[in-house]
Amino acid sequence: MKSAHKSLGLVLLAALVLSLPAAPPQGDQRIEIVNLRRYTHPNFTRIVIDIGQLRDFTFGELRDPGRVYVDVLQAKLNPILQGQSYLVKTDYVSQIRISQKTISTVRLAVDVDFSRIESYRVYHLFDPFRLVVDIYPRGAADVPAQTPAPADKTVPPGNRSQPPVKRDVDPKDPNLNATSMARQLGLGVRTVVIDPGHGGPKPGTIGKSGLQEKEVNLAVGLALKKLLVEKAGIDAILTRESDVDVGLDDRTVIANQKRADLFVSIHTNAHRDRKRGGVETFFLNISPDPSVVELAAEENATSTKNIGEMKTILQRIVQNSKIQESHDLAEAIQRNLVKALSSDLPSIQNLGVKGGPFWVLIGGEMPSVLVEISHLSNSKEEAKLKTGKYRELAAQGIYDGIMEYIRSLGKGQRP
Ligand SMILES: [Zn+2]
Repeated sequence: MKSAHKSLGLVLLAALVLSLPAAPPQGDQRIEIVNLRRYTHPNFTRIVIDIGQLRDFTFGELRDPGRVYVDVLQAKLNPILQGQSYLVKTDYVSQIRISQKTISTVRLAVDVDFSRIESYRVYHLFDPFRLVVDIYPRGAADVPAQTPAPADKTVPPGNRSQPPVKRDVDPKDPNLNATSMARQLGLGVRTVVIDPGHGGPKPGTIGKSGLQEKEVNLAVGLALKKLLVEKAGIDAILTRESDVDVGLDDRTVIANQKRADLFVSIHTNAHRDRKRGGVETFFLNISPDPSVVELAAEENATSTKNIGEMKTILQRIVQNSKIQESHDLAEAIQRNLVKALSSDLPSIQNLGVKGGPFWVLIGGEMPSVLVEISHLSNSKEEAKLKTGKYRELAAQGIYDGIMEYIRSLGKGQRP
């Protein structure tokens, strides 16, 4: 670990267990909030209140001092969290506090410097229900040279099941442009998060015969997991293992929490021109290619952010070294996937590797790619995508690509 990489030094103040307001009435409907999580990413700060059950909430901002607050209704705070405050060493967020505001309202207050933040976002996620506050600083130059907290001290005692996100590298390292961080450090790959796109009420693309993208993505994801675990001894984690929906932001949060080394999102493509077919692999980047923007809009459909908003965030992220590794991983997967699929469909087109603004790839702190294995909008490819053989070949191709990438790092998987 570099010396410049001091712990963010989140100071957990002594747990002041303040006396709660008057005892709740009989038939208490309040949900108890027991956990608050905080992540400082290189490009934003995320605060998560774990709630567990659906609750209404409101949010707003105050000036002098600058503050963003979120009120969770019908909620009570676990005494351990009551009055808890967390100091944050960024120049745009200074302190996070959570307290019982009224007998049935819990307030999260985040002290911010509005002159240093670009925007913030308050939203909810399901399964389990939780509220998320993301705060984006203004301009990359204002972002402190930091990586996620080496130790997430915001996790209260008794709830340490989620390991902190940890990276022993400095994204501001000037050498990064010469050789990527992963290569410099000889990092190996132990954990791969596989993300089968869409799911549940969100089918993704639907082919002419009715085949749904979410089904193909899951089948290929499950097969890929099997290969990684059984053939390479790599820890492979799926963002979903059944037909359920997982929020786009959540997918990389899972990857970060599992401290994954690689993130591979699996999708099936569609194009207005039904004659168009083939394989393409994307990594996160700003793309001037309108066709990529169109596809990205499709894949981003469930995100609450639009492409315009993303662009600001993207501009800050592009310089991040993970882009180069993501590109290399995308190249290896694309090459091997085309090779594998062409054994069953010799005419399959290689549409190449492209940068694109895919929301699902933004939050990941590891090399991240999105693979569009073939086109469901193309009837020939749809027929193939229905078969177990073609799905197995897709998984094999992606697997071969991942393994080629790992070998190229010069350091294999878990010894
Ligand atoms: Zn998709």
